[in-house]
Amino acid sequence: MEKFYQDYCLLCGKCLEVCPVFNVTQFEEYSPRAKAFVYSQIQKKGLDIKNVDRILGNCVGCLRCYEVCTQGIDIPDKVANIRSLSPNFRRWLYLKIVKHLPELSPLIKNGFKIKDIIPHLKKIKQLGNFFENRDKKGLFKIKVFKNKKQKQRAVIFGGCVGTYLKKNWLEAASNIAGLFYNVEGILKWECCGYPMFFAGDIKGAREVFNSNVKLWQQLGNPKILVFCATCWSYLRKNASLIEDETLRDDWLSSLTYMTELIANIESIEITENSHKFLFHKPCHLDDKLHKSFLEFLDNFKIKYRSLSDCCGFGGCTRLENPRLCDILGERFWENVAKDEIIVSGCSGCIMQFCLTGDFKRVYHWLELFEF
Ligand code: SF4
Ligand code: SF4
Repeated sequence: MEKFYQDYCLLCGKCLEVCPVFNVTQFEEYSPRAKAFVYSQIQKKGLDIKNVDRILGNCVGCLRCYEVCTQGIDIPDKVANIRSLSPNFRRWLYLKIVKHLPELSPLIKNGFKIKDIIPHLKKIKQLGNFFENRDKKGLFKIKVFKNKKQKQRAVIFGGCVGTYLKKNWLEAASNIAGLFYNVEGILKWECCGYPMFFAGDIKGAREVFNSNVKLWQQLGNPKILVFCATCWSYLRKNASLIEDETLRDDWLSSLTYMTELIANIESIEITENSHKFLFHKPCHLDDKLHKSFLEFLDNFKIKYRSLSDCCGFGGCTRLENPRLCDILGERFWENVAKDEIIVSGCSGCIMQFCLTGDFKRVYHWLELFEF
């Protein structure tokens, strides 16, 4: 028999402390444990989903509650399950965008012309900013020299954004990966699945995950190098779908977030560095992996500040509840000094920073490297 939230929640409140939505709204009903409670009431007492959709929609899927819960209660998973039972237009639209990103990417790059048609989606037009090349004048440039290491085979998982929208990221990732690995060509991976999963398309998310595993097996199980924290986190989390234990372990050990490589760079030349840097830790990234990048900066005496506040992007929540995402984004920018450059390692966070603040000051760490 399935255990319900009340059966094992300790009411410790740890999830409340870390939940960005609770912190910004201070509404107990939007807290992680309230969401889990609502979910259990739906399961146990057949509570009408339509009446609770608003509560569950107040979640940006940051996974912070899951990370701290000693009882292992996976609230974003429950939110996704409810969403799967309660489709709505905005989720449907979001899933269409994710699914058709390859065809839509040229349109998005030029900026949507939809503000006259659907006013509440006008934020998406701002996504055009995300594709503008940043002015790198005055930004530090790191010239990297090749390490003398034996090269194994590796492939790069660019995620939807890297593959279809920000090809300069993919290029930079290939250059960095080439220092350590024999990198195979650009591959047509499917979406990592998290945007679909969190929008309630659980079946679709499983399908794309399985097809990515199949592609990896066809290539002979090479290392998979990832530079988006959300892709990395979900590709790991979903390993539980791989039934064969040896294959699962192999999959997990092949997944590498690329800051692990950066930490091994032995020689760089810094040509410019006139800015203050704020290195953002995405919610979906392991502390250890974030620190490995900071150690690299320390090694080369590059000054920075680190911040781990949630960006508030939220995947489909961006369309469902844009005001909430805007408030969280604005909250983030309140902690950024006017002359700071934000550097992050997650496609969603970077998009959100571009949507809610000065996009000219937002970079993926990949963009700092020059070869
Ligand atoms: S995933 Fe994040 S936003 Fe959603 S309930 Fe958990 S801590 Fe709150
Ligand atoms: S962290 Fe887990 S155990 Fe503690 S209140 Fe939240 S859901 Fe319950």
